Order: sequence, then structure tokens, then C-alpha cells
Amino acid sequence: MSGTVVLIVEDNAINMELAVDLLQTAGFEILQAFSAEDGIRIARESRPDIILMDVSLPGMDGLQATRTLKVLDDTRTIPIVALTAHAMKGDEARALAAGCNGYIPKPVNSREFARTVRSFLTTATEVPPSGSVSV
Ligand code: MN
Repeated sequence: MSGTVVLIVEDNAINMELAVDLLQTAGFEILQAFSAEDGIRIARESRPDIILMDVSLPGMDGLQATRTLKVLDDTRTIPIVALTAHAMKGDEARALAAGCNGYIPKPVNSREFARTVRSFLTTATEVPPSGSVSV
């Protein structure tokens, strides 16, 4: 997966470090954002191949950030995978409703994480861009 760029939007430093370590080990190039606002800016500047979006963020949350990215012409085709907390019932359904292409429950499974991320890359072209998302 050399050359594949993953943008991780995650405000928790420990979660970020774990995700970065796992994905760098698997050969991905990583961009990091610790807020939704920075995530949107970096996504527009750098056009990553995929975005991992924490749902719970300070200020704008990950679902609002997803809705925004999915209506911007320069980012709408980038697959977005929500990072959802087990404890937050309904997060998965809300993530899909917001336009996420899928979700990964937290805490992440260290053995499966990179493979799961890769699976969203290989199927992403089969997912039509949503035209029904409103901000
Ligand atoms: Mn968070």
C-alpha cells in the first residue's frame, strides 16, 4: 500500500498514536488532524485516499465534518470511515446516515485494523457518491 495516504481525524492522542503506528507498519502514509476543522482543511489540501473520522471531536463533531466533506466537490469522492465507540449506541447508524462509507468500532482490533482500512479502499470505487446528503 505504498503511496496510499490515510488522513486520521482523532482528538485522543493515545488513539491517534495507536492508529498511526498500526497503519505506518502496514505501509500507509499518514496525515493527522486533531479536530474536524483541521481534518477538513487537510483533506481539501492533500486529497488523501481515505479518511478515518472519529465521531466524537471537540467543536464540530465527526459526523458534521463528514457531511461537509461529502458535499464539497474536491473531497466528496474520498471514502470516509467512522471510528465509533462501542459505548455509544446508534453511532454506527448515525455515521452511515451522515455519509460515511463504513465504520470501525473502537477500541480498534490491532490485528485487523490495517486490513479493515484496506478493505474500504478496495471497495470504495463501488460506492456511488451520495447525492442525498444535506448540511
Ligand atoms: Mn474523540
